[in-house]
Amino acid sequence: MTKKYEMVIGLEVHVELATRTKIFCGCATAFGGRPNSHTCPVCTGMPGALPVLNRKVLEYAAAVGLATNCRIARYCKFDRKNYFYPDNPQNYQISQLYLPICRDGYVEIGTDESSFQTCSGRKRIRIHEIHMEEDAGKLIHEEGGDRTLVDYNRSGVPLIEIVSEPDMSDAEEVIAFLEKLRLIIRYLGASDCRLQEGSMRADVNLSVREAGTEKMGTRTEMKNLNSFHAIREAIESERQRQIGLIESGQPVIQETRRWDEAERVSCSMRSKEDARDYRYFPDPDLAPVSISEAFLEEIRSRQPEFRTEKTERFRREYDIPEYDIGIITESRHMAD
Ligand code: ADP
Ligand code: MG
Ligand code: ZN
Repeated sequence: MTKKYEMVIGLEVHVELATRTKIFCGCATAFGGRPNSHTCPVCTGMPGALPVLNRKVLEYAAAVGLATNCRIARYCKFDRKNYFYPDNPQNYQISQLYLPICRDGYVEIGTDESSFQTCSGRKRIRIHEIHMEEDAGKLIHEEGGDRTLVDYNRSGVPLIEIVSEPDMSDAEEVIAFLEKLRLIIRYLGASDCRLQEGSMRADVNLSVREAGTEKMGTRTEMKNLNSFHAIREAIESERQRQIGLIESGQPVIQETRRWDEAERVSCSMRSKEDARDYRYFPDPDLAPVSISEAFLEEIRSRQPEFRTEKTERFRREYDIPEYDIGIITESRHMAD
């Protein structure tokens, strides 16, 4: 008799914010451009260069936090995540570990505003935190050649990272969650959230356990998923791989795996790193951020009417079919 297994899934979602300039300098965030033309001493990690926080990043992060039912910190700080990689010229990434801007939120999926009707009923997916950080540069491995080139245009582009609790149990819920986040963030104009172009990137943390048991299994983290299709396939492949290991009495190893879209398999990338491995410490170049009630009030007053309220209002005010309301409210632009 085969045992029944269930999946436990949590996501880490990176979203590039639609600011005109980078998070800690005045360089343009515009996509493309001649390599290394949108750079300065700050975003290329030159000695002595000092970062200054872009206020717009704070506004977007707070707006996303409010829209996802988070508590917004009144006091938050930036920390250095230390590691060497050629796309990371400072040898650390400025992020938030100890005091992220948003905590303890949630979104609901499986409602009429999700285009995925396969989820039965509503389900609340909790958000552990949202923090602000900077993106890294881009490495270009020369085709057929033996050189790797680096473009720092993306270095210092603002990101928010949305970390969910492990509340999802299949690919449909994962996609519904991502669609919900994308909808909210697009309504806010905070990002275009394109998976293909990398302005939205989701890492999938997944473990399996025997159905009905409490204790969570060992998880792996999958990266490089740049479409809903890839996410769906990677989840199914990882589910089968982990069940196979458990059934044959082998341990699941906690690690980061890379999904190969063409081969449709994942392979081990590195053992799972811990916060301790990065020797995080508060960034001494950036003052802590105090968020006032007035600032939050301003953000609140600027929040758009989101899809849920729009749907209700359209039902009330116009005599149009439910299906049409669904289509019209898919984007704020169309609804307007
Ligand atoms: P770390 O800080 O080591 O990356 P976190 O505790 O922050 O680990 O979790 C990262 C992500 O992994 C979160 O989205 C969380 O929901 C998810 N996660 C944690 N434990 C499990 C588990 N056993 N199975 C599946 N997902 C998990
Ligand atoms: Mg993490
Ligand atoms: Zn710069």
